[in-house]
Amino acid sequence: MPDTINVDTNPKPTVIIVGAGLGGLLLGALLERVDIPYIILERASSFKPLGSAMSLGGQILPVFAQLGIAEKYQTMAKPYTFSRGISETGESLLKLDYSVAQDVCGYSNYIVARPQLYDLLLTQVPAHKILLGKRVLTIGEDDERIKVQTSDNSVYEGDILVGADGAYSAVRQRLYETLKQEDRLPKSDYEDLPFNCTCLVGQTEPLDLEEFPQLKDTGYPFIFTLGGEGRPYTWTNFSTIDGRIAWVVFEHLNKTTSRAAQEQRFRHSENSEWGPYAAMSMCDETRDFPIHYFGKDGANLTMGYLYDRTPQNRISKVMLEEKIFKTWHHGRTVLLGDGAVTAMHDAIVLANQIYALPVNTSKAIHKAFTEYQTERYLPAIEASRNSVLLSMILNKGFKGMLALFVSQHIPDWLWRIFVRRMVHTRPAFGALPKQEFKETVSPFVSASEEKAKRIFELRRDKASAAAGAEVVVDTSGGVSASAI
Ligand SMILES: Cc1cc2nc3c(=O)[nH]c(=O)nc-3n(C[C@H](O)[C@H](O)[C@H](O)COP(=O)(O)OP(=O)(O)OC[C@H]3O[C@@H](n4cnc5c(N)ncnc54)[C@H](O)[C@@H]3O)c2cc1C
Repeated sequence: MPDTINVDTNPKPTVIIVGAGLGGLLLGALLERVDIPYIILERASSFKPLGSAMSLGGQILPVFAQLGIAEKYQTMAKPYTFSRGISETGESLLKLDYSVAQDVCGYSNYIVARPQLYDLLLTQVPAHKILLGKRVLTIGEDDERIKVQTSDNSVYEGDILVGADGAYSAVRQRLYETLKQEDRLPKSDYEDLPFNCTCLVGQTEPLDLEEFPQLKDTGYPFIFTLGGEGRPYTWTNFSTIDGRIAWVVFEHLNKTTSRAAQEQRFRHSENSEWGPYAAMSMCDETRDFPIHYFGKDGANLTMGYLYDRTPQNRISKVMLEEKIFKTWHHGRTVLLGDGAVTAMHDAIVLANQIYALPVNTSKAIHKAFTEYQTERYLPAIEASRNSVLLSMILNKGFKGMLALFVSQHIPDWLWRIFVRRMVHTRPAFGALPKQEFKETVSPFVSASEEKAKRIFELRRDKASAAAGAEVVVDTSGGVSASAI
C-alpha cells in the first residue's frame, strides 16, 4: 500500500546533531533553509582552523549552488586537473588526469584548504545554534523522545539524534553498546577496525610566491611523495589559492605499530584526535622528509621547513576510519559517515528524509532512516573502493607496487570510466531549487531528493491555495473558503 503523505501538518522534528564537523555543519545549513529546529553539540570549546586540504568539486558543488555559496567556494579553492606522484628521490612516478570529471559534472576539481571550507560552512549556520564545549557522553530514548547528556551535565531532548561526530564516533559507540547488550548488533560491527594509518595535517602561513614560483603553477597543485625503502610514510603537499602549502603525512602502520598507536590514542582521547604532544613528536620524526619545492637558492626543502611555517596550534594528528559499518541507525538515532565527501553526501540525503517526514512517530522515523541507509550504503562502499587504488599506492608494499604499475599503465578509456565513477553520485536537496544544469552527463536524481521535492511542491501548493483562500475572504467580505 502506498504511504499516505501528510502535507497538512509539517511535523518539524527537533534535531540534535552531535559534532560540528563538515557533515554536521552541512546538515545544519540545510535544515536552517527549511526552518526545521536543530542544535549542534560540539565538544571543542572553540572553532580551530585544523586540517590540511582536500579535493572537492562536482560531487558537492551542486548543493553549494543551492545554498548560494558555490561562487564563494570557487574564489577560495584552486582548480586542478592533475595530481602527481613522486618518489622520495624525486623520480616522477605517476601523473593522474582528472579532467574528465569536469566533462561529466560541469565543475572542475578543486583543492580547498579544510579550514577555509569549514569557515564557509560555518557562515551557513547561525552561531547560537552551535553549542560549544558540549562533549556528548550518554544517549537514551524514551517516550518517543531522544535524550543526550553532555560532559557539563546538561541534558538535551529532541525527536532525532544525528551522530556526526567523526571517526570513532561517541554516538556510534553508545548506540552499539546498547544494541550489543540487546544482542541486536551484527557481529561485523562489534569491533572498530584496527587502523593501519595515522596522519599529521596542517597548512603553512601564506608563503612568498617569488620564493616559491611553483606555487603559481596551476598544473600541479597536488603532489604526493612515496617514502623509500624502510620508510613507511607517504606525504602529500597541496598548494592552495592563497599561497599556502597544505600538507599531510601518512604513517603506514604494521600490526605492532598499529596496536601501540591505538593504546596511545585511548590514553589521550576517546575520539579521532591525539593531543599536541603526539603531533609534535610525529613532526620530529618526519622533519627530514624531502618535498618537491625549492628554496630561493634552488636547494631542496624538507617537511621541517613547512612545519616551521605552520603555527603549532594548527598542526594535528588524526586518524581516518576505513570501515563501513552495517548498522547506521536505531530508534531515533542515526549516524552520518566519516570522510569529507561521504559525510556531506550523507548529510544531504538525511536532510531530504527529515524534511519529508510525514509525522514524528518512531515508525515514520525508522522508515526514513532505513531509506537513508539504503540510498547511501552502496555509494559509501563505492567511494571507499574508488579511493582504494590511491590508498594502495600510498600504503606501498607489494600491493602498492602492483597498484602503482596498474595506474601507470591503465588505458585512457578505463581511467575515464574510473574518474566518471568517482563523480557519479551528486545528491541534491529536494526542498531547495536546483541551479542551472551544468552537467554533460545527467545527474542521477536520488530517491530522497525526489521525495523531498514532491513534498516541497505539495506543501508549496497547499500554502499558496491557503493564501489564495485568505485573499478571497479578505476582499469579498465573508465569502467562505470552501467557495474557492
Ligand atoms: C582535525 C581534523 C583534520 C582533518 N584534516 C583533513 C584534511 O586535511 N584533509 C582530508 O581529506 N581530511 C581531513 N580530515 C578528515 C575529514 O575532514 C573528515 O573525514 C571529515 O571532516 C568528516 O566529517 P565529519 O563531519 O564526519 O567529521 P569531523 O569533521 O571529524 O567532525 C566531527 C566533529 O565532532 C566533534 N565531536 C567528536 N566527538 C564528540 C562528542 N562526543 N560530542 C560532541 N562533539 C564531538 C569533533 O570535535 C568534530 O568537530 C580531518 C579530520 C579531522 C578531525
